[in-house]
Amino acid sequence: MAQQVFWQRKSLQQMTPAEWESLCDGCALCCLQKVEDDETLEVHYTSVVCHLLDKTNCYCTEYQNRVNIVPNCVKLRPEDVAEFHWLPPSCSYRLIHEGKELPEWHPLVTGQKESVIKAHASVLSVYEVTDKDITDEQLIDYVLL
Ligand code: SF4
Ligand code: SF4
Repeated sequence: MAQQVFWQRKSLQQMTPAEWESLCDGCALCCLQKVEDDETLEVHYTSVVCHLLDKTNCYCTEYQNRVNIVPNCVKLRPEDVAEFHWLPPSCSYRLIHEGKELPEWHPLVTGQKESVIKAHASVLSVYEVTDKDITDEQLIDYVLL
């Protein structure tokens, strides 16, 4: 019987820091701006992406210092898994937390970093503008249905 890979046999809390980092598929969908409904507290994604994203290769241009530059940039931590429901449904951390499999285009499955972009599963296939291109008031116009 084939041995299970680390994301199948370990919980998020059991992963090493390197395993935890490698679990991120690089989709950057979490870099889309979100709007929270005041009444239902439901989180809605928009097609507005953070201006620090490299729009060609889909990576954060200020990754090490991101939370200091962008106050609403969230650094995911294993101890916060209970709050992961706001992450995109395809997010690896959410999938593992919910006991699901990684998608076939995940870089850990394909062995290719760019497979998420090729599968049109990254933010590059979703975003329309950056947060520097619009006003705060216009954000609501970009909510994704
Ligand atoms: S949505 Fe999840 S898998 Fe995609 S970049 Fe963000 S943390 Fe990584
Ligand atoms: S600072 Fe970087 S990681 Fe954070 S939302 Fe912006 S592009 Fe994404």
